[in-house]
Parts: sequence; C-alpha cells; structure tokens
Amino acid sequence: MAFDKTYPEIRAAVSKLCAQYPGEYWRKLDRASEYPTEFVQALTDAGYLSVLIPETYGGSGLPLGAACAVLEEIQRSGGNGGACHAQMYTMGTLLRHGSPEQKQQYLPAIADGSLRLQAFGVTEPTSGTDTSRIRTNAVRDGQDYVVNGQKVYISRTMHSDLMVLLVRTTPREQCDRHTDGMSVLLVDMREAVGNGLTIKPLETMMNHASTELFFDDLRVPAKNLIGAEGDGFRCILDGMNAERILIAAECIGDARWFTERSAAYARERVVFDRPIGQNQGVQFPIARAHIQTEAAALMVQQAADLYDAGKPAGAEANMAKLLASEAAWAAADTCIQTHGGYGFSVEYDVERKFRETRLYQVAPISSNLILSFIATQELDMPRSF
Ligand SMILES: Cc1cc2nc3c(=O)[nH]c(=O)nc-3n(C[C@H](O)[C@H](O)[C@H](O)COP(=O)(O)OP(=O)(O)OC[C@H]3O[C@@H](n4cnc5c(N)ncnc54)[C@H](O)[C@@H]3O)c2cc1C
Repeated sequence: MAFDKTYPEIRAAVSKLCAQYPGEYWRKLDRASEYPTEFVQALTDAGYLSVLIPETYGGSGLPLGAACAVLEEIQRSGGNGGACHAQMYTMGTLLRHGSPEQKQQYLPAIADGSLRLQAFGVTEPTSGTDTSRIRTNAVRDGQDYVVNGQKVYISRTMHSDLMVLLVRTTPREQCDRHTDGMSVLLVDMREAVGNGLTIKPLETMMNHASTELFFDDLRVPAKNLIGAEGDGFRCILDGMNAERILIAAECIGDARWFTERSAAYARERVVFDRPIGQNQGVQFPIARAHIQTEAAALMVQQAADLYDAGKPAGAEANMAKLLASEAAWAAADTCIQTHGGYGFSVEYDVERKFRETRLYQVAPISSNLILSFIATQELDMPRSF
C-alpha cells in the first residue's frame, strides 16, 4: 500500500480527471512534440493550477501539500505535469516580492487561468549551474530596462503569457557578493516577441516545450521590476524550496506509476509456465523500488509539512528532491527490466515515462549541487567552489 494520507479528496478528483487523458493521449503528443492544451485547460478549469494562490486573489489558498497531491496524482496516472507545474509556483516570486499593484494586476488573472505565468528564465548557455555568472543584462533607460543576452532550456515560453526573468543589472565584479546585482523582471511575452525577444524551440529527449531565448534590445517597463533592483537572486531563491518539493512529489507519482506497472506486468506475464513475478530475481527489484519510493515519500511529506508550517525547509526540500528523483529512476529502470522487450515498445508508455523522469536528476537542480548543499550547509564541510 502506498503512503498517501494527505488530501484524499483532491487525489481522487485529480485521478478521475486524468483518467480522461490516457496513455494514448500522451503518446500522440509525445510523437508530435505537441503541448497538452486540452489537459492543461481541464486542470485550469477545475482550479488545480491555482491552489497556491491566496483566496484574496482568486485562488484556493491551499498549502503546498495540496499542490504536491495534485502533481503526484498527475504523474501517477501516467501523465506529465511538467507541461504546467510551473503555473502553480512561478507566481510565488510575484506573490512574495511583488508590489501590491503588481499583485492586484496579475494574480487574479493567473488564478482564473486567463493569464499564464509558467516560464522562468534563469539558465544560460555559458553560466549553467553557476547562476551568478549570468550574462543577460538589463540597463535602465528612462522608464524602461533594455535587455540583451540569451537563455537556454527555458520551458513552456511558447505556452505562457508572462515570464519571470533573471537578469544582471550590476556587473558581477562591481558587487560585494557575487549573488548581488541581479534583478527579476516580469516580461510580458505577448508584447516582447518580435520586439526584441526571439523564441526558438529546442528539441530534447522528451516532450517538454523547451526553448532558447534571444534578447536583442528588448524594452521592459521598469514598473515590471519585481522586488528591489539588485535583489533578484534572493527573490528567486526563496521560491526554489517550493519548486523542489513539488517536483519531488511528481517523482513520487512517477515512481508509483512505474512500480504499479511493474508489479501488474510481473503478475501477468507467463514465461517458463509461471508468472515472471514468481521469480525472486524479478520481484525483489520491484519490492526494493517500492521501499525506496515510500522512504522518499516520507521525506517529501516532511519537507512539505515544514514548508507549510513556515519553518526552515531547505535541507528537507533538497533531500526530498534527491531521494525522490533517484527513487523514480530506480523504479523506471526496474520497470523496463521487468517488461523485457515490451518495455521498449512505445504503446506500453514505459519508455516515454522513463525518458520523462530522467530529467529530474538534472533539473531544476542537479543531484551534485544538492549533495554539495547538504555537505556544506548541513554538515559544515568546506565548499568546493
Ligand atoms: C528539459 C529541461 C527543461 C529546463 N527548464 C528550465 C527552465 O524552465 N528555466 C531555467 O532557467 N532552466 C531550465 N532548465 C535548465 C536546468 O535547470 C539546467 O540544465 C540545470 O540547472 C543544470 O545546468 P547546466 O545544464 O548548465 O549544467 P552545468 O552547470 O553545465 O553542469 C553539468 C554537470 O556538471 C555538474 N557540476 C557542475 N558544477 C559542479 C560542481 N562544482 N561540483 C559537482 N558537479 C558539478 C552538474 O551537477 C551537472 O551534472 C531546463 C533543463 C532541461 C534539460
């Protein structure tokens, strides 16, 4: 039995909604590299993408644990919440650091789904994990910032109206700390595309709506600065724990999907006159993947509980993300092995989910960087960089 004591009503309702979007739906989109527009609209209409927005702005004001339940169930059903998970949490930067006017202007429309804020532009071709070295810069010119630079692997920009964009406003070498001097701009892409912003789709291993962005004298109104100029790194940093916990919940959903599939197939597939699941060589890896998943799920739960209680959750959020992404990968690998040749057949969905779940050991933060965080922040060992 999987451990999922939280939000049973939400889980049941999300699961029912997802049942209308079976494997065939996701396979077709995967093959054509298309966006799950109908699925995302159904989730939006049902209010699941605005659970974290406070009621005063039209959302349901639920804790992070509720959002975890939504995303976990999407993955567990065989779908891919990566298409829209950022609509849930990218608004956090605006919610925590935006001015009252900015929040009033954008949050109600994000809550009702008429405005999509699910693009988050940080990664660049030359800076990678070392965010402080981003080169995309914004220079103040009258009532605007003028933005130049490039971003890479930015998801969903072609399916989002707004983007939270991290830029340098003061050169790194002029700052006391290398994380100072960056700022967050809210870019309205409906106006920006063709006027200084070019978006190019990027083909990746799975269907993730990834893009490259080119900024060429893009003018962004200065009133779209979120938080104080130069304080951008701090503004995005405090949203990262929520993102890691939510993605960890997605990994738990993936892991449970793989293990349920593995066990079902192992019970049914008969070779040498007996179900393959009767062989301990087949059943033990499935049992191990299940154990690994349930242990990781406890850490995700703990991280979400701490976050919802307003307590420091950095270590737990990172540990949850690492454990859950590894549990999902172990379950995925076991699922392929259990299915033998059929694991490679597109119609079983295993190979698609296998490709999709691999991402989470790399993005939004790689396992090495999590290990480094725990080693230096929790265990007080010296930094390697
Ligand atoms: C499908 C997809 C979607 C994405 N969506 C977004 C998005 O929407 N927005 C966004 O901003 N970014 C996005 N990303 C980018 C993602 O966050 C980065 O790929 C990730 O943070 C790693 O950065 P990098 O690719 O530059 O790797 P690098 O920084 O080049 O690192 C490469 C490898 O080296 C390791 N490494 C680097 N330095 C060290 C060190 N000091 N010690 C030990 N190991 C180290 C890393 O762990 C990694 O495994 C996405 C990426 C993908 C693939």
